[in-house]
Amino acid sequence: MSTAYELARCIVCGSADARELASAEEVRREIEELWAYHDSRLEPDTPPAHLLDRVAFSQRPPLRVVRCISCGLVYRNPVERARELEALYAHDTLTREVMQSLHASQREACRAQAMRLTRIARGSGSGLEVGSYVGAFLASAREQGWSFAGIDVNRCTNEFSRSLGFEVHDGTIETFDADRRVDAVAIWNCIDQLADPTSALRAARARLKPGGLLALRAPNGACYAAVRPLLDTPAARMARAWLAQNNLLGFPYRIGFTPRSAARLVERLGFEVVRVVGDVLVPVADQWTRRWAALEERVVKTVGGRLARWSRGDRPIAPWFELYARAVGSSPSEAVTRSVQPA
Ligand SMILES: [Zn+2]
Repeated sequence: MSTAYELARCIVCGSADARELASAEEVRREIEELWAYHDSRLEPDTPPAHLLDRVAFSQRPPLRVVRCISCGLVYRNPVERARELEALYAHDTLTREVMQSLHASQREACRAQAMRLTRIARGSGSGLEVGSYVGAFLASAREQGWSFAGIDVNRCTNEFSRSLGFEVHDGTIETFDADRRVDAVAIWNCIDQLADPTSALRAARARLKPGGLLALRAPNGACYAAVRPLLDTPAARMARAWLAQNNLLGFPYRIGFTPRSAARLVERLGFEVVRVVGDVLVPVADQWTRRWAALEERVVKTVGGRLARWSRGDRPIAPWFELYARAVGSSPSEAVTRSVQPA
């Protein structure tokens, strides 16, 4: 399949004024370094399928990465066209064995997320997860007393999640039942990959009850922007390890929200930010990882994770962040309906 590209503007503030963080050539070099990094840490007989969850999306061509001068958003420019992008994900097929292994390896991180969500929401209720993938969060949320439904464009993983007993819909949040209202909408794994994050967040707002909670998790563009320049310095080895272990090397995302740019976007759409948490990726080491590499990853992520949670502002140390926001006022769609009604 050929992929088409278009020039992008910042989706948060609309500015076209951006600074280059990495050229396409530099991104290509990062992707090669990423493969070399993981290759050196795996047992020689590792089946290729198990590389998938480590080097996610790396089959995609390298694209230039820029940062908005006005609001700090990091994004690819040019970027894949929306239609092509959805096709990329919808046709991704995995074997049941790989899905089971992904589901199991993601449970630990999802359990922590479900517990944080419950704490911040002060209880459980109904929910909708956008990008429910192999159902690891759906299962963890159920353990915490939530009743979450999933929605995803990937029919193959949806079939798998349904086989585990979850309500899962094929499609996007924009096409999801417009009359249904839930207590929480979670977009843990894909806000950075969506064709139109603004439209998805607006659709999330419209499906939340008043005071309902939005939970986002995203790769932190501010961390890539801060650490990437170190790849050309004596600190390169450490910088490369930090980016590679947190899946930021090669920047395999369309968009790198930062805590501030994400807050600016959701506030415009009728949310009030209640909490931002800096985080690292859960360790990906498994039976295929060499022992020294697994130990190193645990140490680096334990220390780095503390720093990530402690950092403030745009949290440049934190490779990932979660943002929680409450729906306030009337939803944008309700506001539109009222404004077109005759006085
Ligand atoms: Zn901007």
